[in-house]
Amino acid sequence: MKSHHRGIGMTSQRTRERLIGRLREEGIRSVAVLEVMGSVPRHIFVDEALASRAYENIALPIGHGQTISQPYTVARMTEALSEGIKLNKVLEIGTGSGYQTAILAHLAGQVYSVERIDALIKLARQRFMEMGLRNIRLKHADGKLGWPEYAPYDGILVTAAPQEIPEALLEQLAAGGRLVIPVGASGGAQTLLRITRVPEGYQREILEPVSFVPLLPGRELMQF
Ligand code: SAH
Repeated sequence: MKSHHRGIGMTSQRTRERLIGRLREEGIRSVAVLEVMGSVPRHIFVDEALASRAYENIALPIGHGQTISQPYTVARMTEALSEGIKLNKVLEIGTGSGYQTAILAHLAGQVYSVERIDALIKLARQRFMEMGLRNIRLKHADGKLGWPEYAPYDGILVTAAPQEIPEALLEQLAAGGRLVIPVGASGGAQTLLRITRVPEGYQREILEPVSFVPLLPGRELMQF
């Protein structure tokens, strides 16, 4: 582990347990999800200057105008994706810091994650290496297209909000597979949805109101 990650106190088990207590109070029930949230160090996924706030239940900036999701939201989405089913292959859209990716990697066989900002992919990849996470594949592309090469997926989790559900993501769901996705205008009312692929088509559940950065078109080109 790099020395700048070794802040005093912020990695302490007590600090993390306090966060798990908050998640439980806010309604997270899955023991598996609570355990993973307690074991994955969130401070590794934020800038050193913000590391002391990493175990607060808040979203934090990660540069490039993006944010690491609030722990409650990560837990809620992971629970919605995983409850009652076995996740073999999972696709994530919007790697960002890689925190949600790392949580998924502890619960699924293999995680594929697509991100449109290359600099964020590079940082996330370093973090996964430091943590010894080997079941994650990353791709610099437009997540609206999914990642057809490895489809179908048992679960697809989207961490940025489109105005409408991208068709490709629905097509890449396995039978019985689930898509957990925030939908709606950025800055406006967004709704977290869970779509399940059933024999007759797709079943839609409304989970709760959420606030995400927008799912942007295309991938970011190199900037100099
Ligand atoms: N799960 C991440 C959330 C990051 S914010 C975390 O907890 O850190 C959402 C991310 O989605 C940003 O990194 C943004 O660059 C990315 N994103 C937005 N539109 C995208 C698209 N069309 N394809 C892939 N990634 C996208």
